[in-house]
Amino acid sequence: MTDLSFYGGVGEIGGNKIKVGGKENSFFFDFGLTFGTANKYLDEFLQPRKSNGILDFVTLGLLPCIKGVYREDYLRHSGLSYEKEPAVDGVLISHSHVDHAAYIHHLREDIPIYLSEQSYLILKALEETGIASFSDYTQLRKSFHLEPKTRGDGYKRSKVTVDRDIQVLKPYQGYELGEFEIKLLPVDHSLPGASGYIADNGEDIIAYTGDLRFHGRRPELTRKFTELAAESNPTIMLSEGTRIASENNISEEDIEKRAVEVVNNAKGLVMVNYPMRDLDRLLTFYKVAQDTDRKLVVSLKQAYILGLFSGQGYPDIKDVIVYKPRRGWGMVDDQTFACVEDEWLCTSDLDSAQVERDYKTWEREFLDMDNLINYRDLQEEPGEYLFRCDFFEFKELIDIKPVDAIYIKSSTEPFDAEMEISERKVKNWLDLFNIRYVDKGFHASGHANGKEILNMIREVNPEKLYPIHTQKPEEFKVLEDDGIEVVYPVIN
Ligand SMILES: [Zn+2]
Repeated sequence: MTDLSFYGGVGEIGGNKIKVGGKENSFFFDFGLTFGTANKYLDEFLQPRKSNGILDFVTLGLLPCIKGVYREDYLRHSGLSYEKEPAVDGVLISHSHVDHAAYIHHLREDIPIYLSEQSYLILKALEETGIASFSDYTQLRKSFHLEPKTRGDGYKRSKVTVDRDIQVLKPYQGYELGEFEIKLLPVDHSLPGASGYIADNGEDIIAYTGDLRFHGRRPELTRKFTELAAESNPTIMLSEGTRIASENNISEEDIEKRAVEVVNNAKGLVMVNYPMRDLDRLLTFYKVAQDTDRKLVVSLKQAYILGLFSGQGYPDIKDVIVYKPRRGWGMVDDQTFACVEDEWLCTSDLDSAQVERDYKTWEREFLDMDNLINYRDLQEEPGEYLFRCDFFEFKELIDIKPVDAIYIKSSTEPFDAEMEISERKVKNWLDLFNIRYVDKGFHASGHANGKEILNMIREVNPEKLYPIHTQKPEEFKVLEDDGIEVVYPVIN
């Protein structure tokens, strides 16, 4: 009998870490962060310490206590034992949201990471453009290593980086993972590259949904996943149930229609906040901008992501405008000054190398593009632009000094106390600048509703169904009327 162990994603949305154990081989479906536990103990300035290796994470219950999966540097540094061989044969990543992928960082580098090409690109972007200190997704930067000094005696701290064993899977193709044959099946979700899986070891056939929906821009993917999962005759199905108790759906088209109306009536700057890696939503607001004779303005980070996904059906970098924020010395125009040999000179007269120094290496490649603007442009011609701006960019408002502006919130409703606090801060900023807040009906969920989930499971018709990634597993009980055994997983 194939053995399932749940280390996350039980009775909660996200945090999936599900171990599938066969006769000889085993693997994880996802290795994500649990928001609930993280929010219970952590805060912006209260984060686990790298100096304690893996122990802060384990003590707080963020990472399960499992032998043979964690990276050697973190274990050895804390005096813990390190097994010679990894305890699992792979981790199958469904998509690159943190609640599914963030804790790859802690895994040993010889555990293969299986994922789609797009999921890989997003992890790469997070690793390269992120400021998070725990983001060794595709490469592992070894901590706590010393090497002999090049000159003289003694040791210095060394920087060793090793590549992880990344296995990019082609969709619909069978791959061997020990005794299992695994297949990655693309599904539609709120970021590119989301996938479900089918794993078959001759004893059990397991279908895993990852996170999915039927009301996004590519419902045909999720439908094909359902068909192929049904054809495989699974004995076990692991299904997400984020919105198992919800009935309605808002689509990208609904958002587009509503937003066009709002933007058409706006005179000043229109700001919009949507999730950075949701490129379908970016496409929606790109269209809104086109329909209302404005141009979509994105951050350097989003421009970087668009560059990675060029030619895949999303707007190209040159189709959007890129916002150059003030960094370091704040030198983007002629109103800041620097002292050169006792004389205060306008920084726009300094050579560009001095300005570039304020930007990170990956940002510099965008700095001499023609479609770059700064706060002055938004101030002078606010009616020309649709400015994608998240909470962390609100400081730009101080420079922009918007008049008659509107802020469209196109992301999920706050669902915990943390989010409510930041929501209050959002409102304070908007009040300070007299910005009108529009927030109803501008978010399409990444998750199918209850009826769609239940119908999908009925079509797949597994022998056993495990509800995961849901706060309401009992809602799945109705499936027993269809002869499907509902098994409520318990956390290990
Ligand atoms: Zn999720």
